[in-house]
Amino acid sequence: MNFLKAEKGRIFACRLDYEADLFDSIKKFSDEHKIAAGIFITIGAVRKAKISYYLQNEKKYADLSIDKHLEIASCLGSISKSKSETAIHAHITLSDDDGKTYGGHLVQGTIVFAGELFIVELQNIELERSYDDATGLNLLKM
Ligand code: ZN
Repeated sequence: MNFLKAEKGRIFACRLDYEADLFDSIKKFSDEHKIAAGIFITIGAVRKAKISYYLQNEKKYADLSIDKHLEIASCLGSISKSKSETAIHAHITLSDDDGKTYGGHLVQGTIVFAGELFIVELQNIELERSYDDATGLNLLKM
């Protein structure tokens, strides 16, 4: 396993806006505060969700839309760069009124009801993504 060593940078505690797109909110905040590398966690609730699942054989994502109110039981991810653009990579676990859970790769289309977002900036590190032939994914360059 290859690795990079980082230092702890700024730490942000945020309240997500009602009916904002969750993915876009994290990306916009990262851009506005020039967070080039970091990790984050989010909890809260959403009006509806859109997640995706990576089909490993086909090397493509399949989207799943869940059009109901859900809790964000957990959401965590990384902030990095891909071709100088901010890359948000997040996975989310959502639960419904029966306690049934849905999970996957967070994409645009998950609309916030309420939520808390905590970001830890990583410094003295360059987190860059590049295409990986074996998986077909843009993975962290080490
Ligand atoms: Zn993912």
